[in-house]
Amino acid sequence: MKTDILLDLIFPSRCAVCDTVLGWDEQEICGECKQKIKYLEQPTCFKCGKPVKAEEEYCYDCREKEHFFLQGAAVFSYEYIRLSLYRFKYFGRQEYAKFYGRQMACRMEKKRKIWKPDALIPVPLHKKKKRQRGYNQAELVAKELSRYWGVPVITNLVVRSKNTRPMKEIVGTDRQNNLKKAFKLGANDVKLSTIIIIDDIYTTGSTIDAVSKVCLEAGIKQIYFLTVSIGYGL
Ligand SMILES: [Zn+2]
Ligand SMILES: [Zn+2]
Repeated sequence: MKTDILLDLIFPSRCAVCDTVLGWDEQEICGECKQKIKYLEQPTCFKCGKPVKAEEEYCYDCREKEHFFLQGAAVFSYEYIRLSLYRFKYFGRQEYAKFYGRQMACRMEKKRKIWKPDALIPVPLHKKKKRQRGYNQAELVAKELSRYWGVPVITNLVVRSKNTRPMKEIVGTDRQNNLKKAFKLGANDVKLSTIIIIDDIYTTGSTIDAVSKVCLEAGIKQIYFLTVSIGYGL
């Protein structure tokens, strides 16, 4: 207990949205952010969950190309949670995963019932990058989600074989080229029929598609995804 208090003084818990130090009666996010919390609103693309105009069923991207996954959804808009995700990934705010995971578990409960996943597959990081960062952010979110849903997290099914350039530096079709053979099957003795791929962000879907493709090759029939945020990207 004493060490907990000491740790709290040195590394106080911070709001997962605005990063202010939390009060003793606050958990995960501060009172102000709790009141103003903004989830991704309908209407969204029937395939990928990206915001669309009222009269549209699918986003531009999903009308233009086929995806390897069946369907997916996100909890927040990228705009809303952008800075939080940045601190989560690059400033060691691992504890934010608790907030993301719980929000995902609550908001996506209906999807869990419909999809009936056998496992959660976090998008893997290349081992070199994971070593540098100290953690895989997608894995942390998947583990939190797993605590609520009781669905296991499998991290050895898909591995990242190539240390790709950060996607934010690349545009358009180069994204797919950058990801060619970036992922491969790690274990093929896993018998699964339905999985959910977990990541922090969905933009064009290139990453989720590349992971889905490997999963399809592994014989998995139903592939879905859930992300903390979704961007507008083309
Ligand atoms: Zn806050
Ligand atoms: Zn879409």
